[in-house]
Amino acid sequence: MGKTSWHVLSNGEYLTASSKLSMALDEADAVLIGVGAGMAAADGFTYAGPRFTQNFPDFIEKYRWLDMFQASVFEFENLNEEWAFFSRFVDLNYMSQPLGESYIRLKELLEGRNYHIITSNADNAFEKAGFDKNKVFDVQGKYNLLQCSKGCTPKRYNNEELMKDMIDRQRGMKVPDDLIPYCKECGAPMELNRRNHTDWMVEDEQFFSDQKLFHNFLDSYTDKKLLILELGCGYMAPQVIKHPFQQLAENRQNALYMTVNLKDYRIPPAVRKRSIWLQEDIRTLLENVQKEQQIIKMKIYETEQ
Ligand SMILES: [Zn+2]
Repeated sequence: MGKTSWHVLSNGEYLTASSKLSMALDEADAVLIGVGAGMAAADGFTYAGPRFTQNFPDFIEKYRWLDMFQASVFEFENLNEEWAFFSRFVDLNYMSQPLGESYIRLKELLEGRNYHIITSNADNAFEKAGFDKNKVFDVQGKYNLLQCSKGCTPKRYNNEELMKDMIDRQRGMKVPDDLIPYCKECGAPMELNRRNHTDWMVEDEQFFSDQKLFHNFLDSYTDKKLLILELGCGYMAPQVIKHPFQQLAENRQNALYMTVNLKDYRIPPAVRKRSIWLQEDIRTLLENVQKEQQIIKMKIYETEQ
């Protein structure tokens, strides 16, 4: 392995956060991006605040939930009530989720570059922003899919029509019995496709094909300058993105590990020398990187004239 040669590491001391990211993007042969809840929050897709209180006033009054996270792992009294909540949840976080500006910016910044994304978010943000599906690996499931709660079959089913019916026909925080979905194979209740506290979820053919594309990407750039970029990955499930990313950075001498997070998470000593922590708001950061990239393009254009 050759010595690493990232200019952003040797000359980065006096650069702004956005210049560091901009420079790293230009230096990299490929970019691996991990996206967590912090990225969604940057565009206002949060689990607390008005977005939560305005959509679930009845549930909040009954159960005194603090946020949607607490709600999403709640033990409901019955399936009628559970689906009254989750149908609205899916609508909010998937079907009616608006376009996120930071996702659009990220897509523009990645244009013409070799990249792949892995995300722990199960929302609709990447599809909505028009990302190439083959470059995004939804490792934690998707809110618009259903799975058998017993996992008897490796199949996932689209739930959008059903969720719409549930929203239309729910009364007093309950959906009618005839809308409650049960597994066609084993009769167990269906649930949203997401990983539970034991890290289990149903993985189907589509999941494995997405996973393969992700691994193919990693295998393609083993000796190249790989920018490993983490956007808003916290410590909810570090085993999904954060720890594998740090391990990858440790194993690859040419990789640069860049983490964007307001909080200061521990970086292992072995990768510290090839790490950059940007304590920045993701939305502002991407805005500024985009401006810098436009200036760079203008300069190139001017020198070519
Ligand atoms: Zn089943």
